[in-house]
Parts: sequence; C-alpha cells; structure tokens
Amino acid sequence: MTADDRNAGPAGPQVDVVVVGAGFAGLYLLHRLRAEGFSVRVFEAASDVGGTWFWNRYPGARCDIPTTDYTFSFDPELEREWTWSEKYATQPEILRYLQFVADRYDLRRDITFDTRVEGADWDDVAGLWVVRTSTGETVSCRHYVMATGCLSVPKAPDIEGAPRFAGEVYFTSRWPHEGVDLTGKRVAVVGTGSSGIQSIPLIAQQAAQLTVFQRTPNFSIPAHNGPAPADRLAQLAADRDAYRTAAKWSRGGVPAEVTDVLGVTAPEEVRRERFEAAWEAGELFAILGVFADQGVNPASNEIVAEMVREKIRSIVDDPETAEALCPKDHYFGTKRPCLDSGYHATFNMPHVRLVDLRKTPITTITETGIDTATESNEFDVIVYATGFDAMTGALVGVDVTGRDGVTLKEKWADGPSTYLGLTTVGFPNFCALTGPGSPSVLSNMAVSIEQHVDWVTDCLVDLRAKGMTTIEPTPPAEDGWNQHVADCAAISLHPTANSWYMGANVPGKPRVFYPYIGGVDNYRAACDEVRATDYLGFRLS
Ligand code: FAD
Repeated sequence: MTADDRNAGPAGPQVDVVVVGAGFAGLYLLHRLRAEGFSVRVFEAASDVGGTWFWNRYPGARCDIPTTDYTFSFDPELEREWTWSEKYATQPEILRYLQFVADRYDLRRDITFDTRVEGADWDDVAGLWVVRTSTGETVSCRHYVMATGCLSVPKAPDIEGAPRFAGEVYFTSRWPHEGVDLTGKRVAVVGTGSSGIQSIPLIAQQAAQLTVFQRTPNFSIPAHNGPAPADRLAQLAADRDAYRTAAKWSRGGVPAEVTDVLGVTAPEEVRRERFEAAWEAGELFAILGVFADQGVNPASNEIVAEMVREKIRSIVDDPETAEALCPKDHYFGTKRPCLDSGYHATFNMPHVRLVDLRKTPITTITETGIDTATESNEFDVIVYATGFDAMTGALVGVDVTGRDGVTLKEKWADGPSTYLGLTTVGFPNFCALTGPGSPSVLSNMAVSIEQHVDWVTDCLVDLRAKGMTTIEPTPPAEDGWNQHVADCAAISLHPTANSWYMGANVPGKPRVFYPYIGGVDNYRAACDEVRATDYLGFRLS
C-alpha cells in the first residue's frame, strides 16, 4: 500500500492485512508480511505473544515433536542464535523462544494485546474487511487472516454439577501464571488426553491424594526425554538446509524413515524389533510408522496396539488398573498418541487411584467433590484436562460475515468446507491458518505453519504484482478439495475413532474428519501447483 492509498479516506482500508493471533503462526506471518512491505495489525487476546505456549502452563507441559524440529527454520541466523536444552522442551522454554523471536524481529510494535477480535464483516462494495475488537476499535483491511490456533479454545467440562464445586478449580489450558501449590491436597484430575497424561505424574509428586477420572484410555509411549538428540544435532550441523528441506517434504513434517514393511506379513521377530526400536526412540512418527499399513489395515494396527498394551501391563502393578489403562476402543494412532514421562508408573504410587468412568460414570459434581455411580469422593482441588474445541472452535467463535451476510458459522454448520484448507467460497480475501482441510494437527505444526505463512504471503505479493486486490476460491475447486480431503480420510482408520479429529468431543459438533491426512509433502505439492498455475481454482479481480 502506498502513502496515497493509506490516506485515501474511508473508502480505502486502514491496513493491508489484519492478523488475529500472536502464536507461532501470527508471529511469522507478521514478520513475512512486513518484510514484503505490507502494513499489518495483529490482535491478540492474551497479554503477550506465544499462543499455545502462553496459555498452557500446566505442570509437565511440553512439545511432543522434538524441539530441534518444532522450531522456526526460516532464518538460519535465528537457528544459530537459539539452542534448545532438551529433546522435548518445556512450556517455559518454548514461550521464552517465541518471546525471543518477537524481540529479535521487533514484532510487538504491530501487535495489540489484551484485545479479542469479535467480528469481521466483508464489505463487497469497498472490497475490504471491517474487523471489530473487544476494545471497541474497528479496523478496515484488504485481507483478513485468522492465525487463531487449532487447539486454542478450551472445552468446558460438560459434567452435571460442575459449577457447584466450592474448592479450587484449574484448567490445564488456563493454568495460573504464578503456578499452583498442590502440596498436601486431595486432587482430582478429570481427563486423560495429552495434557492429563503430561501433568498427572507431576501432580502426583505434590498431592497427598490423586484420583484420576478416566473416560477413555489413550495410547501413550515414553518420551525418553533428555538432551537434544545428538544424531539430530549432527545432521543439522552437517547440512541444515538439507535437513529442513527433508522435513518440508516428509509425510508429517519431521524427516523419518518411510518403511514398506507390512505388519500383516512381517515375521514376528521383525515386528518385535521394529516396535521396540520405535518404543525406545520415543518419537511420534516412529511409533506411527512401525508398519507401512498400520494406519489403514486393522490387523496390522492391532499388532502395534497390542504391543503397547503389553508394555502397559508390564509397567502397572495392579492388573485391574493396568487393564483399565489399556486402550481398546480405537485403533492406534486414530487419536494423537501421547508422549509421557512416567505416566503409567504413576498408578503404582500408593496415593494415586484410577477411576474408570466406563464402569462407574460420574453422576454429579458436588460442593465438596465428585460422586460416581458407586462412591462419593471429597477433594480440595479439581483439575480439568478436558481438551479443546479443535480446529474450528476459534474460527467460528468469531462472528465472521462474508458476502451476502452469510457467517462462517452458518456456512460450516454441517462441517467445514475449504479450498486447500486455507480459504472458503463466499469469504474473499479471507484465510485461516492450520484450519480444517490442512495437515495441521496431524503434522509438526512448526513446519505446517511456515508453509501456510509462506504460501499466503507469496500469494499477496503475486496479487499486488498483478494489480489485483481480491482473491476467492471457486465452488468447483472447493468441492474438489473437500472430496479429496474426505477420500484420503476414508482410506485410513481415522474416521472410526470418537476423536477430537472427528469433532466427537464437542456435543453437537459436525462429525467429519477435520484435518487433511494426505501428508505435509503432498499438501505442499498441491499448494505449490496452485500457485504455479496462476492460482488455479481461485477467482482473482
Ligand atoms: P496458537 O498458538 O493457538 O495461537 C493462537 C492465538 O490466537 C492465541 O494466542 C489466542 O489467544 C489468539 N486468538 C484466538 N482467537 C482470538 C480472537 N478472536 N481474538 C484475538 N486473539 C485470538 N504442535 C506440534 O506440532 N508439536 C507439539 O509438540 C505440540 N504440542 C502442543 C502442546 C499443547 C499443550 C497444545 C495445546 C498444543 C500443542 N501443539 C503442538 C499444537 C500447537 O497449538 C501448535 O504447534 C502451535 O503452537 C499453534 O500455533 P498458532 O499460532 O497456529 O496457534
């Protein structure tokens, strides 16, 4: 935008781009857009940068992708200046990193904190968005990008009586900044997803009594955390560019062996050897890739699942507790497996107890504790690790109104519909980063975020070079992408699980498979091809 445009009065936009969110995605997008000469305003509900890593401060919060990979790669200088201390860094370290990035590129000056974007309306005549915020400020912009995160809207516990509890209540996703002292307290943890599995071993170290309420057991493998892996550091030192390129063109965003060993035909000793190696590696994509067919063939999947269950039975002393901790209602990997540090062994501690809600459901939460079908328990503290309204929660939570007065929430009432997981018909100049229809939560999100940000920035640069101001996908392109996303999911075992990937954890949420399972590599190729073919599937004006 030129100075003349900026002073063009009410008809012209105040800035080129409004970005919502200052996590990994919003920060990098701001950096790239500014470097290309666009004017940008970023709005962030939190009081500082960090996104996920600003909010999720529960004990044990860590990444589950090795931090050598869960990191920005766009600037070799930045990589030289920052050294990760652990294989899986803790939340405080990742937050410090994102604060370091914000300082290094002087990003905060264009970010307005403590401000929620409440609505955005497309003005078809002026060809711009008008963005409304919680402070009453409105800003007009040519392009409106939601970098609002796919795991950023916590899901409230839908348990009878929850508001009645008079003791302390904490949510893993909104853990107090000053920390919580649980020493000597009777603590209940509700939920055994990733946040529960990461926090339970540390909560157990403090609490006088810990009762874990489990509805669904989840597969979890030991992280074997420690210093950043020497082999990975050596590869990066030898040829950083080659390593990062391999990540970009890998299936999940981390360079990993692609095997052609089939679980169903491999000899028992090969199965065992491959499984044990993945178990020892303590890495998500290793355990998800023991066999080439484990994601599509139930028999192959069951081989891996049963080996994990054997491990659980060998760790947990009490056979009944061990059995309750063994996942049997979903295929391995159809929910994101967790990485833990001593989770299963925690149940061998004398003051830790598992309540299997499949056998004894919670009937109500009372003023003093939690009642199940068979018992009443008193607690000082309840910790909810109840997950997120994933992928679409933050997008439809804002009143985004596109052409003809249709809101995003209305358009996506039966499930999201996108072209390339980034754009949607009826909403010109609108982008959602890491949204439904993109690899997002199935991948190393640092890699996926950089890919999205680069594509969006390149697109705006291309539009400007062509003298165009508006871009919107066409209905056939969107239908085609939706079909492709659904076809890929249908080949896999994923849609069989009641997972948050399927929206199953939020009552009333449409049941579809939200992310794109075709792989980071294939997704990148599809996006690159659209750009190379002059934005095939989009209408530019
Ligand atoms: P976020 O970090 O979620 O940031 C979005 C920001 O937008 C938030 O700060 C939010 O306050 C703000 N926002 C949302 N709506 C509004 C609004 N209306 N107005 C103003 N501001 C708004 N991914 C991995 O790849 N590897 C991992 O190891 C990993 N570990 C994770 C651990 C936890 C506990 C969680 C919750 C997620 C993890 N993820 C992981 C996923 C993680 O969310 C992404 O990796 C990444 O941090 C997302 O960055 P983002 O910028 O897209 O979104």
